Amino acid sequence: MARIPINIATGSLQKPEMIVGIDLGTTNSLVAIIHPESKQPVALKEHDSSSLVPSIIHFDANGNITVGESARALLETDPQHTIFSAKRLMGKNYDDLKAHADFFTYRVIDSNEDSLVKVQVGEKFYSPIELSSFILKELKHRAEHILKTPVTKAVVTVPAYFNDTQRQATRDAGKLAGLDVLRIVNEPTAASLAYGMGLDPSEEKTIAVYDLGGGTFDISLLHISNGIFEVLSTHGNTYLGGDDIDRTIVQHWMQQLNVSAASLSDNHQKSQSLRLLAERAKKQLSSQEQFSATWEGSRVQLTAIELQQLITPLIEETLKSCKQALQDAGLTADQIDTVVMVGGSTRIPAIKQAVSNFFGKPVNDSVNPDEVVALGAAIQADILAGNSQRLLLLDVTPLSLGIETMGGLMDVLIPRNSKIPCGAARQYTTHQDGQSDMRITVFQGERDLVKDNRKLASFSLRGIPGMPAGFAKVEVSFTINADGILSVKAKELRSGVAQEIEVKPQYGISSEEIEKMLLESITHAKSDMVERALVEARTEGEQILSVTEKFIQKNTTLLSAEELTATAAAMQALQLSLTMADKDLIQRKTEELNEVTRPFAERVMDVAVKGALQGKSI
Ligand code: AMP
Repeated sequence: MARIPINIATGSLQKPEMIVGIDLGTTNSLVAIIHPESKQPVALKEHDSSSLVPSIIHFDANGNITVGESARALLETDPQHTIFSAKRLMGKNYDDLKAHADFFTYRVIDSNEDSLVKVQVGEKFYSPIELSSFILKELKHRAEHILKTPVTKAVVTVPAYFNDTQRQATRDAGKLAGLDVLRIVNEPTAASLAYGMGLDPSEEKTIAVYDLGGGTFDISLLHISNGIFEVLSTHGNTYLGGDDIDRTIVQHWMQQLNVSAASLSDNHQKSQSLRLLAERAKKQLSSQEQFSATWEGSRVQLTAIELQQLITPLIEETLKSCKQALQDAGLTADQIDTVVMVGGSTRIPAIKQAVSNFFGKPVNDSVNPDEVVALGAAIQADILAGNSQRLLLLDVTPLSLGIETMGGLMDVLIPRNSKIPCGAARQYTTHQDGQSDMRITVFQGERDLVKDNRKLASFSLRGIPGMPAGFAKVEVSFTINADGILSVKAKELRSGVAQEIEVKPQYGISSEEIEKMLLESITHAKSDMVERALVEARTEGEQILSVTEKFIQKNTTLLSAEELTATAAAMQALQLSLTMADKDLIQRKTEELNEVTRPFAERVMDVAVKGALQGKSI
């Protein structure tokens, strides 16, 4: 069945919008799509240029920002204004980075308002989110230019070990760049998808993804069954990659040429040019036996065998991580069915050989290791766009999960895009004296009011012992297991009464529906916020009214006639305001009632304290 998208704002028909896959890498980034005719994933590139966009940003004196190859060229001549490896800073504070401070040729500082780092360029300060957004903006721009259509939605990949802050930071960077990040996908999952794994629901496999990029090394062990990817374990080193190989070559040459580190340290240009030459040598040696060039009037050379010797410690370190990952997953190398190679540095023959020896099987390297993650992201984007009948991959929750609270508000326990398996718990209380039942209704969706979300299940926690309102402590916990099954448990902590149900959140929901729900949440974000504020004000007003009413009934004798009249008037005014859709008015009337009752509430409290001291109860 064909879908005909309609622009909600204008009511006109529109071309189906492309959802692109983006690999936002430490060294290079790129965009891929599913080709509309061949239906195959392809990396976007302009004519015969490379699909890779160096993740490098340059700021010139006039405030112009350039990203990519042209910024990379300025690494040598303008290192203080040229930012590389911004991905390493995502979600980090200065303490996390202190040990690697000399890695950055630009200024990384602590920001005052929050503990997350910022980068100083001239007079300005940039957060890693802003820096990443510049890269994403450039990718969006290039994609639009090549595809000749607006690109506003994307699937973006992140390392499997990225925590929530880092995932959120990546999503925020997308937003800043004008991209709605529909899904954050783990890089190893994307790479496996690009090799066609996980697309056949009957397939069950254990995969090792060995990813050696420019600046980072990760090994991830995944298990797929029923089209669901589960991350079994990850290990690695966030400061190990092709850049280290370049540095090792630089050091080797410096030794040979008798150049001291001190003589290079204050000459950024000289050291950068040697670094770039080392990278050229390394790349050339992946397909040739020898490299030779001149640097500052001296001859520099390297052979493939020398390179292999130089990088043996680095290879050993990656294999140690592989061992650790296997141990963490409780597996042995022979239990791995498939090994997938990712990252430009896996082009080095010695590395392929070492990994193949370690796992005792040939490695999968037929897909371009620089593009494989982006190609997988494009496959995932295509599934989300509803163009593919294939299974919906569920290694993150596609929509937020929560329960209904007072006033019909959605209280999110597990936000969308949370990595599964995961869990969350929160405490609630009763709002009526002696309340023995509590209804728990589970919803899925992004809207602030549950009526706009999708109801998944509902059950009652019965047998809560009689207690005054607000006394019961009901803990509601959500757990999603690796198969995407949600268990909801409610437990009254004082009495121990508990009730539990199981829900399949993805059951019966198609990728189109998920996309539609996400779109609606964006379209209605503002009105939802207004409505949430109104509901919250009303709920608070109602609670104050009920508390005041009880208070008056109990303490009539302690109040003067004027006080009683003033209270009744303030209550009436609040009651009236509750019927109107004016949050500010409700809040004002609530505050006015509080003002009236505060002095005698304090007085009654004093009497209560005195009474208690005399051993009497009131
Ligand atoms: P990535 O982060 O995956 O983009 O990886 C980029 C890294 O791969 C950089 O360190 C490159 O120098 C390295 N690289 C790219 N091509 C080759 C090659 N042919 N041989 C060795 N390393 C390469």
